[in-house]
Formats: sequence, structure tokens, C-alpha cells
Amino acid sequence: MVGSGPGGLTFARVLHRHGHPVAILERDPAPDARPPGGTLDLHEGLGQLALDKAGLLAEFQALSRPEGQAMRILDPDGTVLRDWRPGPDDRANPEIDRGHLRDLLLGPLDVQWGRGVTQVVPGTRDGVLVRFADGRQETYDLVVGADGAWSRTRPAVSAVTPHYTGVSVVETALDDVDTRHPDLARLIGHGSVAVYGVNRGLVAQRNSGGHVKVYAQFRAPLDWHADLDLADAGAVRSRLLALFDGWADPVLDLLRHGTAFVHRPLHVLPVSHTWPHVAGVTLLGDAAHLMPPLGAGANLAMLDGAELAESIASGPGDLDEAVRAFEERMWARANRWATITTAGLERLVSPDPAEALALFDRVQPS
Ligand SMILES: Cc1cc2nc3c(=O)[nH]c(=O)nc-3n(C[C@H](O)[C@H](O)[C@H](O)COP(=O)(O)OP(=O)(O)OC[C@H]3O[C@@H](n4cnc5c(N)ncnc54)[C@H](O)[C@@H]3O)c2cc1C
Repeated sequence: MVGSGPGGLTFARVLHRHGHPVAILERDPAPDARPPGGTLDLHEGLGQLALDKAGLLAEFQALSRPEGQAMRILDPDGTVLRDWRPGPDDRANPEIDRGHLRDLLLGPLDVQWGRGVTQVVPGTRDGVLVRFADGRQETYDLVVGADGAWSRTRPAVSAVTPHYTGVSVVETALDDVDTRHPDLARLIGHGSVAVYGVNRGLVAQRNSGGHVKVYAQFRAPLDWHADLDLADAGAVRSRLLALFDGWADPVLDLLRHGTAFVHRPLHVLPVSHTWPHVAGVTLLGDAAHLMPPLGAGANLAMLDGAELAESIASGPGDLDEAVRAFEERMWARANRWATITTAGLERLVSPDPAEALALFDRVQPS
């Protein structure tokens, strides 16, 4: 298995539960080699179902933040347009820090850190050949590419590569928000605050421990930063403040107080990405169906991983048949979600901000 993101780890953890060992090949040199990222909401029928299959639902419920489902929407002038809070027993989409989820899934798993895969070659005499960045190579019966957007496994089954959506995100963060920025803490509440303007939006999400992630999203050509040093936090902050010029001060404070800025141009795979089945290699998660980040990607990756593991573990049937059946199921589900999230991105970062509000009202009534 290539990749130890949410999809790969769920796959490995469900197999582990059924007593099947799996080699987990991960490029990162250690679990904490990179910041783990922001908060994820895990849906009842997707990510939570996957955790149930891994026997981890109760632990997830203890770690997750149901109050994090709260969502406030503001006009760029600061007017509160919607202020939605979950009911006391609402467990539909609780939030969990990515780092907490990773640690929960890792549990007893033995990841081979620092093993970047460069190429996967199916159909050799000894099985599927995997080449590593350090020059070594090994063969396996089945290689599962759970290696994300820029998968090195994908070329073994598909020539398709991700394309730019026209929307870029710049991410920043605030620490100790309750003590250092109490006004912003109140603005964000227990969950998220989103502000939508013309072709741009700002979203701030509370993580645990008073940490807040802020996402500035806007329509722009891929090279919008050609004249900017992205490593220069002051320069990026100034550019963002110019881009959101005229927005209310408390909203702009989310950018003013941001420390480091990370550029994330949004790429996607085609909505109905499939491939002719290749014996011995498959993909799951973003490697198979990268889509706009509207709260589905990690959920889908986890359910893919859990379902593939279950179909393999429920043997003694033919391994290849189990993989084929999984692919058909994954493609159908991914197609539905890619359609939804692609349309969603069009409405959330839109020339008409009322579109974003209408979308919110449709998915989060009352
Ligand atoms: C800003 C943002 C916010 C998001 N918010 C949400 C959300 O709220 N809810 C949600 O469900 N989804 C969200 N997503 C989407 C979600 O992050 C992804 O869909 C999810 O992480 C995909 O999981 P994965 O396991 O398929 O891949 P990844 O999480 O990308 O994991 C891939 C793993 O493979 C490793 N790897 C990569 N290449 C190699 C290689 N060559 N060799 C070995 N290892 C390799 C990587 O180091 C990584 O550990 C968001 C995305 C973004 C960008």
C-alpha cells in the first residue's frame, strides 16, 4: 500500500483488524515530518462508517468535536447572515483534527517511513514491481495507490493528471485564539465562520487547543503569484489584504494575524475518472478521484480504504475479482460526489455571493 493518509491508513487498519498484514510505504520520513493540516468533519455514512469498520468509532466519538459543526456566515461588511448550531445530540458530521485522526488510525500499524515510491510497474514475472526514490525495488501481489493528488501509482493504470480548477487557496493559521485574539474567537465560535464575496471567500475553522485555520479562496490564474515571493509572509499578507479590500475589519483581522501562509491551488481529476482494470494495481482516495475540498475527500478516501480491505479480507475468493468489484463501487460513489463538489465550488467561489448562501441553506436547513 502506497501512502499513509486517511485512505491508506483506514485500508491498513481494517485489514489489520481482520488479521491481514500489509506493507505501508510512506514517503514522509516520520509521522510529524509535516504539519498534519486542519480539521476534518467525518460524515455518518462515510468517514464514520469507515471508522466503524475499523472498530474505531467509539474512540473517534471520544476524540471528536460535535460542537465544531457550528457554522456562521457573514457578509463581507460583517453582517451575520446565518448562525447555525448543532443540536445537543447531533453527531452527523463532528470535527476531528487531522493529527488526532492520523494517530487514531496509526494505532498498532507499522508504517515504513521514508519510502518514497517513484514508479509502479504491473505485470512483471514476479508480480507488481515498485521502485523507490533510494534506488531500491521490490515486488508485491497487489499495490494499492493511496498516495494522494500527485500519485506515483496512478500512471500504472491511467494517463490522466489533475487540472487546475481556477480557484486558489492561501491557508494561514492563528494560535491560542481564545487568549490572544478573543474577538476573533467569538467571531469563529465553536466551529467555522465563512464570508463570501464576489469570486472570493474567507473561511476560518476552529481546531482543538485554540488553533484556527484560515482559508482565503479566490478565482485567479494559476500563476497569480508570479511577481510575489510566496515565502515572504508579509508580502503574501499584503496581497491578500488588497484582494479582500473593503471587507469588514474583524474579517480582515483573520488575515492580519495569520503567521505563515501556504499556497494551495485547487486541482481536480475529471469527474468521472475511471480506468481499464489492471491486475495487481488499484487506486483509492485522492489518487483515484481528487475533487474540490468541500468536506468529502477524506471521508471518501476512508470509506474506499475500508471497503477494499473488507472485500479482500472476506476472501477466500479471487483477489482480482475483489479489486474489480471494489473499483466499480468506488467509481460510482466518487462520480456522485465529484459532481456535487464541482458544482459546489462553482457556487461557493462565484460572481454572485448569494449562490453560496443558497447552497448553505440547501445543505444545512433550519
Ligand atoms: C484545504 C483543504 C481542506 C480540506 N478539508 C476537508 C474536509 O473538511 N473533509 C474532507 O473529507 N476532506 C477535506 N479535504 C480533502 C482531503 O484532505 C483529501 O481528500 C484526503 O486527505 C485524501 O486522503 P488520501 O488518503 O487519499 O490522500 P492524502 O491525504 O493526500 O495522503 C497521501 C499520502 O501518501 C503519501 N505519498 C504521496 N506520494 C507518495 C509516494 N510517491 N510514495 C509514498 N508515499 C507517498 C503522502 O505523504 C501522504 O501521506 C481538504 C483538502 C484541502 C486541500
